[in-house]
Order: sequence, then C-alpha cells, then structure tokens
Amino acid sequence: MALTRAFVLLDRDGTLIEERDYLRGPDGLRLLPNALAALRRFRALGLGLVLVTNQSGLARGYFDQQALDAIHERLRAWLARDGLHLDGIYVCPHLPDAGCACRKPRPGLGLRAATELGIDLSRSFVIGDKRSDIAWGLHLGAMTFLVRTGHGAEEEGAPGARAHHVVDDLLHASEFVQRHIHQRGRM
Ligand SMILES: [Mg+2]
Ligand SMILES: [Zn+2]
Repeated sequence: MALTRAFVLLDRDGTLIEERDYLRGPDGLRLLPNALAALRRFRALGLGLVLVTNQSGLARGYFDQQALDAIHERLRAWLARDGLHLDGIYVCPHLPDAGCACRKPRPGLGLRAATELGIDLSRSFVIGDKRSDIAWGLHLGAMTFLVRTGHGAEEEGAPGARAHHVVDDLLHASEFVQRHIHQRGRM
C-alpha cells in the first residue's frame, strides 16, 4: 500500500485569500491576514498543503485559464518568498448546475488529490468559509473547520453541514490543529 500522510485541504477564496466577487486576475489578489503564519504552522507540523477551489467564473467567461494561472503563479511566488509552497492546486471550472463530479461539495477533486498526492483523508483537515466546503470535508472523512473570514460569518448561522469547529480565521484553525495533533501524539 502506498505511503499516505495528513494534509490540510484548503479552500482558496475567503479562506486563504480575500474574497472578491470572482477574482479575475492577479491584481486583485490579497492574502488574508495571518494566512502565511498559518501555513508556516501547518508545515511545521509536517502537514501537506493543497488548495481545492470552485472557479465557476471560468465557465461563466468572467476570466480565462490564463488569468487563473497568473493568479496562482503570483500566489505561489508570494508563498515562495516565505519559503512556503503548495503541494497542489485543484480547480473545478464548471457551472454549479453542470452536474460535474468535481465541484465542491462533490468529493471528486478531493479524491483525486488524495490519490495523486498520497493523502490520508481520515487524518486530514478541511478548512473553508462555506457550508459546501464543510459538506465536502465531511464526505471525505476529514476534520472540518469553518473560518469566519470571507463568507464564513454569514455561513455560520446558515443551515447546512455543521463543521467540527468554527474558528475566526486560518491562524486559529492552525492553532487548533496543532493542539489536536499534540494531544493525539502522532503524525
Ligand atoms: Mg471560499
Ligand atoms: Zn467541476
């Protein structure tokens, strides 16, 4: 059996970077406060990092693949300045009603990432600002965190999948994960 390890599966918009109403190019890219500190902590814990994001703006024609690549190139460059990298970025480009297998909360992209990157989902952490991220994480069998950044504050009171934990932001999630791992005494 292939070797697997624990990962953090991160939503992008409203979780790692500022929520924009369809970020269309790198110029609107802003990391959320404390995002780098959170990623550093996850790495210090030996966790893998993968971004999984719904980008229906592609199918809507709001931006093209080139613009999306430019956004992710800049994001990777900013992380690299801090000695950080992402193990993968997975994107669903489809419309919500397209019936694809990859749009969160459908598990397609998470399962693909797990196969390609060797993720032990049952020991992993899913973090997002929407109920659909949480439903996705629950499908995958991970521990789920709803952050109050992005849409999170509104989503907290909305009906839908309930996260294991609700936290102010990614840094708080990382602190919780750190305590959790130390208590569990492995990984
Ligand atoms: Mg989001
Ligand atoms: Zn899709």
